[in-house]
Amino acid sequence: MLFSNVIGLSSIKQKLQANVRENRLAHAQLFLGLEGSGKLGLALALTQYIYCSNRSETDSCGECSSCRKISSLTHPDVHFTFPTVVKTSDKEPVSDDYIQEFRKEVLASTFFNTSDWVRVISDNQNKNPNITKKETRNIISKLSLKPYEGEAKTLIIWMPEYLAGQSNALLKLIEEPPQKTYFILVAENSEALLPTITSRTQLVKIPRYTEEETEDYLQTKYGLGSQKAEQIAYLSEGNFRKAISLVESVEDNYSTLFRDWMLACYSNNLKTVATVTDDLHKIGRVQLQIFLVNGLSILRESLLYKTITNYQIKSEKEQVDFIKKFSKTLNAANIEKSYEQINEVIYHIQRNANAKIALFNLSLNLRYNFVRNR
Ligand SMILES: [Zn+2]
Repeated sequence: MLFSNVIGLSSIKQKLQANVRENRLAHAQLFLGLEGSGKLGLALALTQYIYCSNRSETDSCGECSSCRKISSLTHPDVHFTFPTVVKTSDKEPVSDDYIQEFRKEVLASTFFNTSDWVRVISDNQNKNPNITKKETRNIISKLSLKPYEGEAKTLIIWMPEYLAGQSNALLKLIEEPPQKTYFILVAENSEALLPTITSRTQLVKIPRYTEEETEDYLQTKYGLGSQKAEQIAYLSEGNFRKAISLVESVEDNYSTLFRDWMLACYSNNLKTVATVTDDLHKIGRVQLQIFLVNGLSILRESLLYKTITNYQIKSEKEQVDFIKKFSKTLNAANIEKSYEQINEVIYHIQRNANAKIALFNLSLNLRYNFVRNR
């Protein structure tokens, strides 16, 4: 992977690049970042940069033989260790048993998490993944060999949280590494890591992505319109894995449903409100969040349309008329109030509140905002 293919993180990239060029890269690093951050992509980009025979100040060439091997995860001196699942009939597995699957997964996206991975390698979701004792022995013997090409060996450990009891032998290796060996540990949860690991590695904290970065990514990679990209960025909280799954699940912007819901609240007919709330509840928790975030953009555009002369509404064509009409039904203060109330419900639904109750209460509050406006 090229550095330029890793979104954002420019100051971390610059530091790593300088360390490689000046030959002072720490031999054991811990890339720590939440789910859906750029940690694995960055580990791969750094590895490629280390080996590239024709690198520039800011990136590897992407074309030399090392770059090609590393970008397909097939370089003989770059090893991967990751959690696996012990199957009942099986002997203790090692990472190499699943390297084909791992390559496929990484090449598709670097944002997958351990559950995604377990789903790929096992039919049984209840099995706990781990990095086996046999795997640590395997690592030690691999790293004791001379490099096949060039002069350095690298071990990328994805999810060292799963080393559990097997880390002692590995720690010894990190403490007294064979010549020219780099360890890059790519982890999510520092609390699940043994202190002996964190104390022996140089910490590189990978921040979560900003809403702007998420929007950029969604627009570039999936060609989403700015409104949809903004809504998904808002919901995914800097987690690209979540953002990707939302892109795959957003089929509708629910503008008709939103209009029906607002009309029900506006008509002040409790029975209709209850029916529409029931319908909404049926679309499911994730879709409901998408629906509500779309509602937020409608409210925001209504407010801007109401308060700024000649404001150009930023929305899909079908929604523009509705936004214009809608902005007449509420005053600015009540639009803001509704915005806050919807926002709060999204927050609670994300944290597993009872969606049906939250939605019904919200409908009552919104209805009251309309009533007060008369
Ligand atoms: Zn290269």
